[in-house]
This record gives sequence, C-alpha cells and structure tokens, in this order.
Amino acid sequence: MPRRKRNPFTCPICGTRAEPKKTWQLVSPFPDSKGRITVTIMGSFECPKCGHKWRGVVSKLKVGGASETTSSGSGGEPAREEGPVFEIDIDEE
Ligand SMILES: [Zn+2]
Repeated sequence: MPRRKRNPFTCPICGTRAEPKKTWQLVSPFPDSKGRITVTIMGSFECPKCGHKWRGVVSKLKVGGASETTSSGSGGEPAREEGPVFEIDIDEE
C-alpha cells in the first residue's frame, strides 16, 4: 500500500490551507502488538477557496501500553505536540 504523505490540512484540489471544521476520534478496537490502542483523530475540512470538502487524518496517537515513549517507525516527522487530553469514546458507529 503506497503511503503518500499528504498534508491533511491542505486542499487536495487547490492547495489552500484549511482548518478542520470538525474533528472526531476513531478508536481502534484492537490493541497493537505492544498492547496499545491507536486513536486516530479525523477531521472534516472545507476549503475556503474552492469549497472542496474532504476528510483527513489530523493526528494519530497511541494510548495504553508501557511507559515507553512512542518511537515512530520509519520516516515519520516528529510532529508530536502536547495536545489537549482527548476523551476516548469506545462506542462504535
Ligand atoms: Zn480548494
């Protein structure tokens, strides 16, 4: 699966930067090999210029597991910000 790195904040049509109008969390129902749950923060965007709407992954975080700091695998940019505490809702749609 090719993993293209695209800035989720950038309009895929015209390249204008947009802010997410709405974000929500997707919680993986299964832990990874280290017992951590992956929480994906999704966002819905709307381009202020061309009006295109899209969704993208705003951020991903892993919760649980040991106190080991997240060592991202290959080629990830170390964009780790101390964000707000996310409430995790396990309910699935
Ligand atoms: Zn656009």
